[in-house]
Amino acid sequence: MRLEVGIPEQVREILDRVEKTGREIYIVGGVVRDAILGKQLYDWDFTTNATPEEILELFGQEAFYDNKFGTVGVKNREGGRQFEITTYRKEFGYSDNRRPDKVEWGENLEEDLARRDFTINAMAVSAKMELVDPFGGRADVEKKLIKAVGNADERFGEDALRMMRAVRIAAQLGFTIEENTVAAIKRNAALIQNIAAERIRDELFKLLASDYPADGYLLLRNAGLGEVILPEMEKTFGVEQKSPGRHHVYDVGTHSVESLRHCKSADPVTRLATLMHDVGKTRTQKTYADGRITFYNHEMESAKIAKKVAERLRFSNEEEEKFVRLVRWHQFTVDERQTDSAIRRFIKNVGKENLEDMLALRVGDRLGGGARETSWRLEKYKERLIGVQKQPFSVTDLKVNGNDVMKVKGVKSGPRVGKYLEALFAEVVEKGLANEREALLEKLATISL
Ligand code: ATP
Ligand code: MG
Repeated sequence: MRLEVGIPEQVREILDRVEKTGREIYIVGGVVRDAILGKQLYDWDFTTNATPEEILELFGQEAFYDNKFGTVGVKNREGGRQFEITTYRKEFGYSDNRRPDKVEWGENLEEDLARRDFTINAMAVSAKMELVDPFGGRADVEKKLIKAVGNADERFGEDALRMMRAVRIAAQLGFTIEENTVAAIKRNAALIQNIAAERIRDELFKLLASDYPADGYLLLRNAGLGEVILPEMEKTFGVEQKSPGRHHVYDVGTHSVESLRHCKSADPVTRLATLMHDVGKTRTQKTYADGRITFYNHEMESAKIAKKVAERLRFSNEEEEKFVRLVRWHQFTVDERQTDSAIRRFIKNVGKENLEDMLALRVGDRLGGGARETSWRLEKYKERLIGVQKQPFSVTDLKVNGNDVMKVKGVKSGPRVGKYLEALFAEVVEKGLANEREALLEKLATISL
């Protein structure tokens, strides 16, 4: 059948130019799936029986060798991701569950499609826009099913990362994993340990950044991968927190998943922090005779666990710092009686750049615990966060300096200069004096130490 989708001019050019030489070329992989789904199309991949050398020669300046598996990149003139042209491949001999011992060029298109992971990813489209679909991918797209190509156990044995790809693609598309395929993931879940931590992290972040992060995480657990990748979270399910007169309705694990579901930030690090903010409750639970349950200082234990997770999954330094900070300080109070300096300390702890995500975590936490999205206290607190940031943070932010002090007060440089500046700073912070030069100089004249 023909696929009726518009393709960019340069895609058309690539197809025509290769075909003219007598070689075969097809659009392949995720973009075909997304075309059937009627999604926006980017990331164009091609497969061909031309060798990488032939492709390089054909595209000259525009092309460059991409990796040792025979992929040639062609520059996208519109600035999008490069076009990737890969020679038909067949792979065999996966002794380490993650990469083929050697790669050989495949004989034909069907062989190339057969080594791909899922039926919905194993379709191709010719230059005439004819769909090639030997494994029933189109029907599976319509049924919203992710199904391994061929024998699922073998496919996951070849490359264990495919198990995470199945869950991640399900979370992105809102699909389910076909019964036999999910059963095979359960049987092979432990093999994910053979995959490099960075690659697991990348898949986990894509899952979290998807449209269905909470359902994706539940699927990850249900498929048996959750306990291998985030074992710390497993212990939170079933940890009760209901106390007489308190608001908790869910156990810690369920509350965590519901918080993730309602987290308004799109950032995967913030979303993971939202999922894991209470993970330390497993270590701090105390039950009293009157039925009360407490978790004092659980955020500190959560932060320690978060740090371990970040190290194990090789987060970048920035990712780790943000993740740990969000978890460490999530328990902030929005009590309106707090002083400005308490609020300033909070901002410093969380990091100015993370404030918005900290609030997104809080909103997730509230909604995930059955509370309303916000409260007048939280709204007031947000206003104060903004207000406090307009004030100077330290003496060096004042619009006057030591020279001004020496002139106005007639003192020589020394510790007294600093004392005057601190007194001025206190006026601004505690008494609302404007941080403006004129006002500061006037005030300075009246201060005596
Ligand atoms: P996205 O780009 O949104 O992550 P995609 O399906 O395009 O999704 P890519 O990682 O870009 O995924 O891979 C392109 C194609 O290569 C896939 O559609 C699939 O056919 C094949 N593929 C990718 N990774 C694997 C794998 N681990 N095992 C088998 N085939 C794979
Ligand atoms: Mg892709």
